Amino acid sequence: MVQSGGGFTLVEVLLVLTVIGVVIAVSIPLFGGYLEQVSSAACMANRSQFRRMYEAHLIAEGKRHSLLEFGAFLDSYDKEICPGSGVIAFLEQRISCSVHQDNDEDDGESVPFL
Ligand SMILES: [Zn+2]
Repeated sequence: MVQSGGGFTLVEVLLVLTVIGVVIAVSIPLFGGYLEQVSSAACMANRSQFRRMYEAHLIAEGKRHSLLEFGAFLDSYDKEICPGSGVIAFLEQRISCSVHQDNDEDDGESVPFL
């Protein structure tokens, strides 16, 4: 007689590998989208914090906003603002990122200086 018990048949192993492959194929795009959302939210929060620190810097130093002043403060800011390595710039009255867009949730927090 053929001995049975112990170990799996080839079909069982292939079935398990196929199921694992399907699970991975489904979860990777979902996980990637989630990571992008988290990265975008972190970038927006960091830009908001950076803007507050820049405004405090202007008040503390008695300076007025200018692109030169903004650039100097940005260079001296030692924390990473965009986790996606986006370029931070002052465009259209707000601090923008080259990678992440602002959600159009204008909560009245547009930059008040100028
Ligand atoms: Zn960004």
